This record gives sequence, C-alpha cells and structure tokens, in this order.
Amino acid sequence: MKSNSAISESRLIIAIDGPAGSGKSTTAQLLAEKLNYLYLDTGALYRAFTLKVVKTGLGKGQEGEIVALLNHTEIDLKNDSGTLRVLLDKEDVTDKIRTPEIDREVTWVCQIPEVRTQLVELQRQYGRHGKVIAEGRDIGTVVFPNADMKFYLIATLKARSKRRQRDLQRQSIDLPFESIRSEIAQRDKLDSERELSPLVKADDAIEIDTTNLAIEEQVELLYTKVLEHVDHMRKSDAGL
Ligand code: C5P
Repeated sequence: MKSNSAISESRLIIAIDGPAGSGKSTTAQLLAEKLNYLYLDTGALYRAFTLKVVKTGLGKGQEGEIVALLNHTEIDLKNDSGTLRVLLDKEDVTDKIRTPEIDREVTWVCQIPEVRTQLVELQRQYGRHGKVIAEGRDIGTVVFPNADMKFYLIATLKARSKRRQRDLQRQSIDLPFESIRSEIAQRDKLDSERELSPLVKADDAIEIDTTNLAIEEQVELLYTKVLEHVDHMRKSDAGL
C-alpha cells in the first residue's frame, strides 16, 4: 500500500458517531494526529455554549434569550501540541465543560433548533477544506451526510461508565459508579429518542464495538480502514 503519500494528499471528511463513552473523542483525536487532519469535537461546541447559558443563569423556557445569547458568543477550537483547547469568548474552558453539571444541561440546550442550526453551520465551516475528523452524534447523518468515511462506535454501558469514571477521577471528581452509569443511560436515552438529529447509525457507517479494545487498538483499526479506503480511491482514480 503506498497510501501514506496518498493520505497527505487526501482531503477526506471522516465522521465518527456513537454514544457517550464509546471512545470517539480519544480515537478521533489520535487518528487526526496520525493523519495530520483537523480534529473536530462537536460535543465541545455544544458544551461550551451550555456553559455560557448556565453562567448567564438562563434555563428551560428561555429559548429566545438563549438564541440571542448565541449571537453574541464566540466559540473556537484550537489544537495546542496535540490537545484540543476549547475557547469560549476567548477564555480557555477546556476543563470547565467536562463537569457533571454540563453533562446534564447540554442535553436540552443542544435541542434548541436555532442553536443546532448555528452550531451545525459552524461545524461545516471547520470541514469546508476537508482533512477533518469530526465526532459527535449526528455527523454522518446530518452535519456531513456525504462524508467520505463514517464510523459508528459502540460499547457496553458498563464499559462506557467505567471510562467516564476514570475521566472524572482525572479531574479529581469522585462519583459513585452507579450514578455515572445512570447518568450515561439517561443521556443515551435522551440522545437517541430526541426529535432533532437523534443519535442513530448512518446506513453507510462502519460499526465498531470498542468494549474490549484498548485505545491504541481502536485507533489502529480505524487507521487501517482509512488507508484501505484511500488506496481503493487511488486505484479507482487510476482506473486500476
Ligand atoms: O460527545 P459529548 O459527550 O461531549 O457530547 C455532549 C452532548 O452534546 C451529547 O450528550 C449530546 O446531547 C450533544 N451532542 C449533540 N450532537 C453532537 C455532539 C454532541 O447533540 N454532534
């Protein structure tokens, strides 16, 4: 396979969707590094705006004010030596958006139609030159329905809850396993059953069960599939 040079010339859009804790973020970030692509964490955009809504003291039933607030909000993602930093009105909020409070509040803020429309538009702007790995819930179905490759990651609720517990512990947030498990189960339900852009596997997505995979294995698996895809495209362009 002479795919490495082909990869650097490629301008693919790669979509990774799946439920909370399925390993999307870490996989997408590491894969983006390997391919020298932009890593687009779409959940981070919804989380950052939710933080602003919470800080402003707005709540359910104040959709008009929330949309007006969005029009005066600047959200930006910056790659800083391999890690993604999230900027809200120029303030670095990377850690502040990963709290149990934001986990809870983001599920209704991201359901306000105008909020979705505007943040989806922002996501498409990030993807306009290709060379992007975008992860979220509706990337392969709504944001980039014509993505070159689509992956759908799954894992058991238990495995996902354990990963989330570890992530929280790294931020010195200690919560009982049961409460994490029920929060994730609740978020799965809300994300899958909602009307607007529900979490659903695109028909043409490759499903990968990450329950028993280490992160390096997940990344390697997706990387191999991307190389195969690029190689296949190269051959078909050359009429081989
Ligand atoms: O992926 P992450 O857990 O950071 O996403 C936080 C929440 O943002 C999800 O539970 C979901 O409700 C929402 N989200 C979404 N569409 C996306 C990404 C995230 O609705 N593309």
